[in-house]
Amino acid sequence: MNSSTTASPRYHHANQGGRDATHLEFVPTKIGASRQRRAINAHSAAGSGQPTLILAGMHGDEPKSVHLAMRFIELITQERPAGGVVIVPIVNPDGYALRKRRNDAGVDINRNFPTANWESAPRRFRYYPGPRPASEPETRAIIAMIESLKPARIVTIHSINRRRHCNNYDGPAKQIARAMSRKNEYPVRASIGYACSKASANEHTTP
Ligand SMILES: [Zn+2]
Repeated sequence: MNSSTTASPRYHHANQGGRDATHLEFVPTKIGASRQRRAINAHSAAGSGQPTLILAGMHGDEPKSVHLAMRFIELITQERPAGGVVIVPIVNPDGYALRKRRNDAGVDINRNFPTANWESAPRRFRYYPGPRPASEPETRAIIAMIESLKPARIVTIHSINRRRHCNNYDGPAKQIARAMSRKNEYPVRASIGYACSKASANEHTTP
């Protein structure tokens, strides 16, 4: 832990992240609620630049992504990141409560973002994208946060099986995906064969 915490820390809202360089405590802030009214929380630590946004628990049956995000919160609190970091460890709390992939309406949140490649017809039911883009409160909470936070990059942590692990990137994130590969040794992929959210990189956490 840092030692400069004698004064009461200047907490800031997740939506204002990245501006207060003196404050490195992680403060959970409710940024929205699920269909079943479970809170969706963002843990933010301000830094000197545009923050990095880390999302996990988008799929409720990938608890390792949540555990990794929680561990990351602990580590970053101790290590003092240079830039701001905002972590949403459980994007889909209803799914997570039941260890189910999709949310309470059976929507795959990862396919519900209004991306250019949004598809109304899922290849398989488990990928059901919802009746329209951003139809789900979980998706809208993340979109609202992205719009106000304007993160420099977004990293989404998933867990995936059957040797499909990779650092999947979208947009100008190839360098980040490559840098991650030097650490986690996962292959870098621009596409994993289907539309998904505008995440920059996915990280495999299942052995
Ligand atoms: Zn996933």
